[in-house]
Amino acid sequence: MAIDLHEPLRRYWGYDDFRPLQERIIKSILGGFDTCVVMPTGGGKSLCYQLPALISNRTAIVISPLIALMQDQAAQLKEMGISAAVLNSSVAWQDQSSVMSKAAQGAYRLLYLSPERLAKPETIAWLHRVPIGFFAIDEAHCISEWGHEFRPEYRQLSNLRAGFPDKPIAAFTASATRRVRQDILTQLQLHEPHKYIQSFHRSNLRYLVKQCENGREQSRLLVAALRAHAGDNVIVYAPTIARVEETVDFLAEKGIAAIPYHAKMDTRARQRNQERWMSDEVRVLVGTIAFGLGINKAAVRAVIHLSLPKSLEQYYQEAGRSGRDGLPSDCALLWQKKDAGLLAHFIDAIVDREEQQRAWDRYRVIRRFAESGACRHRQICLHFGETPKWERCDMCDICDASPAWLTDKADATLAVERPARVRKWADAGRRQPAEISAGVDPDLLEYLREWRRGVAQRDNIPAFMVMHDATLEDLCRKLPRTQADLLRVSGIGERKAASHGAAILFALESYRSGSRATAREESKVSPAEETMRLLSEGRTFEEIAQIRERRLNVVIDLVAELVERGRLAFNEKWIPPGRRMQIEDAINRVGSQRMKTIKDALPPEITYGEIRLVAAQARHGSAAVDRESQ
Ligand code: ADP
Ligand code: ZN
Repeated sequence: MAIDLHEPLRRYWGYDDFRPLQERIIKSILGGFDTCVVMPTGGGKSLCYQLPALISNRTAIVISPLIALMQDQAAQLKEMGISAAVLNSSVAWQDQSSVMSKAAQGAYRLLYLSPERLAKPETIAWLHRVPIGFFAIDEAHCISEWGHEFRPEYRQLSNLRAGFPDKPIAAFTASATRRVRQDILTQLQLHEPHKYIQSFHRSNLRYLVKQCENGREQSRLLVAALRAHAGDNVIVYAPTIARVEETVDFLAEKGIAAIPYHAKMDTRARQRNQERWMSDEVRVLVGTIAFGLGINKAAVRAVIHLSLPKSLEQYYQEAGRSGRDGLPSDCALLWQKKDAGLLAHFIDAIVDREEQQRAWDRYRVIRRFAESGACRHRQICLHFGETPKWERCDMCDICDASPAWLTDKADATLAVERPARVRKWADAGRRQPAEISAGVDPDLLEYLREWRRGVAQRDNIPAFMVMHDATLEDLCRKLPRTQADLLRVSGIGERKAASHGAAILFALESYRSGSRATAREESKVSPAEETMRLLSEGRTFEEIAQIRERRLNVVIDLVAELVERGRLAFNEKWIPPGRRMQIEDAINRVGSQRMKTIKDALPPEITYGEIRLVAAQARHGSAAVDRESQ
């Protein structure tokens, strides 16, 4: 093929080389073939359809289930000087009709559509007037019931082939077992597709799985992990919104700043938090699984799970958000036996028998992953249909690669002697990033991050859209002084050089003449102290929940804990007088240890919160008695 693909890669994306498979996939699409791509997260799938769309003079229709991701991509493309638009439920009606008429004139290289939109007959009629080059189906595993993210809307995509028999279809996924892959080909009716499947083995990830005896051990390990990763970007996944908030507060008590992220936060707070994390203002983010879809942050050093995920695919995908820059990163799964019970409970409640069966299958696989003594990397490869030639990876807990923070006991004061192999990795782990970031002045990097935060705030776009982490690092390495130098920096194409070049050169110049990043102030007020202060001001629990942006039961739990530890005196006003007596009676009868038992022994109108508070006081009292009698 005579087309030079490196020229646009350099000019628009600012990259020197293709990643593995990218060039072959692009050529397959440009050649008009149906194409199926399985590539792990971070492999660089978007470029595979964006570049052919750019040089084909026609419009590529991209189907994606993730509204935020579509918008980010379209905005990034516009930043690069490539015309792109989005049609989904979040676009205002007037804008939609303008996009539709422009699209019919061929104004866009890429047009992002939601699957719901594509299912409408009027959309199909209109699409026939758009000069379509090809269809790209992102997250194609959503079409399969066997996958872990089945979306019924995706089933409509089966009609594409009949509606547009002469247009190539390219399917992309980061997560597909052999069965799901086959399903994608069948459902989309791909015709003699070219298949590109990249290995699922991500050798820079260290999988560490640990079944914790109880919540206390889990918390201790979480803190140990975060201390070992001080200064790194880390994602912590918690199973529920309440656990997200509790974890953030708990970490604050330990002096570790973290921000919460979950689906029930109002959109602005969520965006603000995501942005604070993306721009490295706060390094640790605690989220529910709602976080991460479409997150484009390459330099995440650890992903820590606080419960057992529903499936190995889900775990692989979430854990895989670490180390997208190829540097060593940790994936720690700190789970408890009760997680399995909870998963089983939810599966039991599934009505559809076939769906339930599939859920059990997934459950068995993830439990085997967590509990069997087989190499974690190997299990993942086998699950995704690969047969590795090696038996040991030396990058998981089973293969003796556990770090000290995981193996050392809290009370171990003497250094634990670790096997030589472990030390080797630990040393390599330290050295390797240093080698790769050789020549990167950390102060300059921080200075450029601050510059980037400023630009992002001014233009009201996410920081990574201004510039990726990898690009900032390359700036530190190459220290450009002219516009021509700038174009040699990875991730700076012509458009970016034009829009931000002068400002970057100016920032570098200021740094040379002595400017430094202003130290980040992170609020150091402890949640416990703040809560006690608010209580002493006479605030109600509801008010405190509102002020602290926490769920009511999270506030009550914290108060109860303070009472239990004797840091806060129980207040009669918290609970209607009669109720307190009732609860105390029940506690005398059944003990103060199990909430559920006490709750069952009481009338239904008495809440868990009330019980929790009275029980906390009872436990504190009996602890005091224990101390005296010792
Ligand atoms: P995926 O969709 O497979 O998860 P992305 O398309 O989001 O991956 O790409 C992951 C990261 O890799 C992005 O930051 C992207 O800009 C970067 N990237 C993609 N292709 C290249 C390349 N050829 N050279 C350098 N960086 C690349
Ligand atoms: Zn291993």
